[in-house]
Amino acid sequence: MTREAGGRFEYFWQKERHMRIKKLPIDTGPAAWTDLLQPKRMAPALETDMTADWVIVGAGFAGLTAAHRLSELAPEARVIVLEATGIGQGPAGRNSGFMIDLPHDLASEDYGGSVVRDQLQTKDNRMAISYAKEMVARFSLDREAFDPCGKTNAAATEKGHAHNVSYAAHLDAMGEPYQMLDAADMRDLTGGGYYIGGLYTPGTVILQPGTYIRGIAAGMMSNRVQVFENSPVVALEKEGGAWVVTTPQGKVRAGGVILAVNGHLESFGYKRGRLMHVFTYASMTRELTPEEVERIGGQPSWGVTPADPLGTTVRKIAGTGGHRIVIRNRFTFDQSLEVNEARLADVARDHRKSFDARFPMISGTEMEYVWGGRLCLSYNDVQVVQKLDDGLFSACVQNGLGTVKGTLAGKLAADMALGEKSDALTRAMSAPEPSRLPPKPIAALGAKIRLRWGEYKAGAEF
Ligand SMILES: Cc1cc2nc3c(=O)[nH]c(=O)nc-3n(C[C@H](O)[C@H](O)[C@H](O)COP(=O)(O)OP(=O)(O)OC[C@H]3O[C@@H](n4cnc5c(N)ncnc54)[C@H](O)[C@@H]3O)c2cc1C
Repeated sequence: MTREAGGRFEYFWQKERHMRIKKLPIDTGPAAWTDLLQPKRMAPALETDMTADWVIVGAGFAGLTAAHRLSELAPEARVIVLEATGIGQGPAGRNSGFMIDLPHDLASEDYGGSVVRDQLQTKDNRMAISYAKEMVARFSLDREAFDPCGKTNAAATEKGHAHNVSYAAHLDAMGEPYQMLDAADMRDLTGGGYYIGGLYTPGTVILQPGTYIRGIAAGMMSNRVQVFENSPVVALEKEGGAWVVTTPQGKVRAGGVILAVNGHLESFGYKRGRLMHVFTYASMTRELTPEEVERIGGQPSWGVTPADPLGTTVRKIAGTGGHRIVIRNRFTFDQSLEVNEARLADVARDHRKSFDARFPMISGTEMEYVWGGRLCLSYNDVQVVQKLDDGLFSACVQNGLGTVKGTLAGKLAADMALGEKSDALTRAMSAPEPSRLPPKPIAALGAKIRLRWGEYKAGAEF
């Protein structure tokens, strides 16, 4: 009996070890970062029956890191990665690209939690970032893909500044370096006069998420590691000691499987009633003209996270696709794992307001892309890096910091699968189960009210 057993459904699944995956990922709106890149497709779909030592389901941060780690620890092993959509089309190519080393609890007022827990989390996050850095060096990805430039929590109001001061006190207690920025510093960085201050910390890496994810996938492909796009796993079953992983047009028979599907772990029958599916949203402008860039001023490329966790993240980019601005805000609670186009139209109005307030010198600039994407949180802020069954492992539930936690989960799940030991793995394996959520309607209503109220309270940080 595995540790997550409990629900009748999970009992049935373990007994029969046969699962049809009814819910496949649906991504709403384009993955802008990836859309800026060529070629549009980078791998074939699985169209035949194959055998492998390992199958990884999902080609996001967790899945690609797991594949890389397996091939590093067991160079002779045959590894197959199956991705339901395109590489960089899912959440891994839809995020704002902040790979943050420090605590980043979205449910906290200032991102912080208990000092000892946050010190350990920071240690693990840094291990993940340094592993990402090794992959970046190995595959010769450039600074646009992976920029170790640190990050600034920007404050637009006195209340935002107070969040930064409180977070700075937390960093003092953790023994972490930081620098407080004033309004002039923020003007030098961002050009406009919207921000009254900021808190800079040096350990964050800022990604171009599409370039990073596709670069890692492309670098790893060989005759030992194969990646298939547009290959959703629709069934998973144990047959004569092996796992059989089925896609619409093919099958892979493998000794072991790592599920790296974040919240879609539930679609495989695990952790039902314990995972919170939250969407967040972003818009990217069309390419700005040199004259518009001049009017904005500030540095050519920069990124700020909001001092209030429910505020607005902003990036100014200047690489592939030219100069553009990216705005991210709004969180919605959608246990169906789907959002529709009407929701995008609604959040686009908020993005417009947040953009125009920050960039009055180019207000009304057309947004070329608007999109949403999934996060998966647990109520008690734990990940699911677990052995689910013989030869079946999970690298899921990354909470609010999926670029880092996904990388961490992927590496640790591969270590677990191959019997590699570390303190970080021991910590991950001793994490409690994600707590059970209240009944669905209550959970949904509670989360929606809390998120909307939090966004309202964020005021000009939104
Ligand atoms: C707008 C936005 C901004 C964000 N900003 C940040 C940020 O700045 N920093 C940060 O750390 N995080 C951010 N995130 C969150 C981050 O993108 C995710 O948490 C992260 O991608 C999770 O990584 P993962 O590998 O676990 O899962 P994913 O990236 O979701 O990858 C899982 C993959 O599994 C695939 N899959 C699911 N089911 C199946 C199946 N049946 N068969 C095959 N494949 C399947 C999916 O298609 C998906 O590609 C943001 C998210 C969004 C939407």
